Amino acid sequence: MPPMRAAETAPDQATKPLGAFPIAAQPGTGVYRCTKCDEFEVIVTGPEDQLPPCANCDSGPDVMYIPMDENARVSHGVPNRDDQPPQPR
Ligand SMILES: [Zn+2]
Repeated sequence: MPPMRAAETAPDQATKPLGAFPIAAQPGTGVYRCTKCDEFEVIVTGPEDQLPPCANCDSGPDVMYIPMDENARVSHGVPNRDDQPPQPR
């Protein structure tokens, strides 16, 4: 048996502010919430979908979205993007 370790703390990732995305970012599929009002949630349904302006805060450099579900946390790690511009279809 391993010696006693610090109680299972959440992995670093959980507290990193790195997981925030600005408007028009393509974070990957999942649910994201605006960090400014902490109310507006948006569901991104495709890897190329962009985050829209917040319904409450409108748009601005201080409007950021954080992943709210497992899909969102995982999907933005997908290494499938170069510098290709977004292409709405
Ligand atoms: Zn907001």
